[in-house]
Amino acid sequence: MTTSGTQSTDIRTGDSIRSKIPDWPADFAAKYRELGLWEGLTFSARLDGWARDFGSSTAIVDGDKRITYAELAERATDLAHGLRELGVRAGDAVLLQLPNSAEFIIGWFALQRLGAVPVHTQPGHRQAEVGHLAGATGATVYITTDVFNRFDHRDLAKQIIDSTPSLRSVVIAGDLGDHAADDRFTEFSSLYRPGSGPIEDVANPGDIALLLLSGGTTGMPKLIGRTHDDYGYNSRAAGERSRLDADSVYLAVLPIAFNYTWNCPGILATFRVGGKVVLARTQDPSVVFELIEQEGVTMTAINPQLAPVWLDEREFTDNDLSSLRIIEIGSARLSDHEARRIIDEFDATLQQILGMSEGLFCATYLDDDPELLATAQGVPVSPYDEIRVVDSDGNEVPNGEVGELTVRGPYTLRGYFDAPEHNVKSFTDDGFYCTGDLVRRLDTGHLIVSGRIKDQINRGGEKIAATEVEGALLKHPLIRSVALIGEPDPTLGERTVAFVVVEPGAEEPPTRRDLANFLESEAGLALYKAPDIVNIIDEMPLTPLGKMDKNVLRQQLAPA
Ligand code: AMP
Repeated sequence: MTTSGTQSTDIRTGDSIRSKIPDWPADFAAKYRELGLWEGLTFSARLDGWARDFGSSTAIVDGDKRITYAELAERATDLAHGLRELGVRAGDAVLLQLPNSAEFIIGWFALQRLGAVPVHTQPGHRQAEVGHLAGATGATVYITTDVFNRFDHRDLAKQIIDSTPSLRSVVIAGDLGDHAADDRFTEFSSLYRPGSGPIEDVANPGDIALLLLSGGTTGMPKLIGRTHDDYGYNSRAAGERSRLDADSVYLAVLPIAFNYTWNCPGILATFRVGGKVVLARTQDPSVVFELIEQEGVTMTAINPQLAPVWLDEREFTDNDLSSLRIIEIGSARLSDHEARRIIDEFDATLQQILGMSEGLFCATYLDDDPELLATAQGVPVSPYDEIRVVDSDGNEVPNGEVGELTVRGPYTLRGYFDAPEHNVKSFTDDGFYCTGDLVRRLDTGHLIVSGRIKDQINRGGEKIAATEVEGALLKHPLIRSVALIGEPDPTLGERTVAFVVVEPGAEEPPTRRDLANFLESEAGLALYKAPDIVNIIDEMPLTPLGKMDKNVLRQQLAPA
């Protein structure tokens, strides 16, 4: 894993980015290696292995495109040469904001070829989020699309590159449009350099392979650096729990950049065993059901918000869904009632999961009895995941009692990226990550999610940090004080309610639409963060310590 003589002056080692996440203590790292959990492989090396083992099998189906493992490995190399010409080097962070498409996968592996670090950016992210990610990572290149969901990403990219000193280039998977004359913009497809030869793997398995975004509770979300070793093990353990094999056909319905879709077990675990990945560009169930029939899909993953939509479509569809063996559901709490309907009405097995970009991944067993399948969110996928369910003093509670889920293990982070102060609050002294999720553990090891203590709203699986939105809304000229709260909602799981105290003398209080427009155009936040409901109140209730008393506000909401 050394740089070649000709390139050594050109290639940074990536040490600077690696130093921004804490290491696992040496004894833990040694144990994980000895046990073979950390396999000592980079993702570039893994891709080569897959190309060797499964070369002519189909790896990706994206619309009319079918790409084999051999082709994926080759295209990743060809693209890496073009990205290197753009100046991408080992250890560089590169923003990747693409819809479910072959380009996301090829781009991701091209960056792995160079030892560069893809920063997973959601298609819905706008100026505030992308700008924050670019600044926080010092990204040098931004790979995005032209237009997606009627939003022009090229204009967003122009704003971001104009305001981010580290960013040198924008790569557009699609048409450059009005930006064709801007020499900072390059077309994705123009970067392939076939026949340029292999690229030496300069990454180390302990390096950061990718950066994910945390759901966040304070201000802008924190970044999570996942290493080649830990992320590779996450794939393996998750894939084993779902019993993936070379006959598996995984359908990616949720956004590809979600950790859930990408690696739990998702796309990477399917590649690991030589299965086929099918990409859905839309979540429209009629399109998705058609794909299930056409491609013989065996497994897919959705969130609780899609569950009732699928149940409705199931009644009317003519599509043959008999190939489908597993419907994985997670990201937010699935109600026991909806879970039972899925179990009753689909022939496939329901697999509930509780996962987080920080690492820990729990899933039910495929042969769990139906009562557990309907009510529990799973068992950690690794026997080396150490779980403690604790009370507010940090003492473990007995099985069956509710407490905060805390965890450490071979693929759970030991600290957020470049966030030493925040890390003191989110981790115990002995390295357990405090998830902010409230759970009950059964004697079987299954966890049941019963709530959360973090100030976060889970709106249909999209996580919203209340303080981020409150901070943005406070800049609105008519708002004196604001609190954002999640209210139970039958479709979304939770919807957002903003309690607003308006400035004295304001003639008309702001409406929901005013606030959505303000958050999008003035604050540059993703649209899903706009409040669903606005409640105007005279006075903000305060705790004796003078903080907003959200419990009082919660009591004002209608009972669930
Ligand atoms: P993310 O990193 O965006 O995947 O968010 C992780 C968080 O999503 C967890 O800490 C939980 O708060 C929440 N979450 C994930 N799966 C579930 C589930 N099955 N039930 C309830 N909450 C969940």
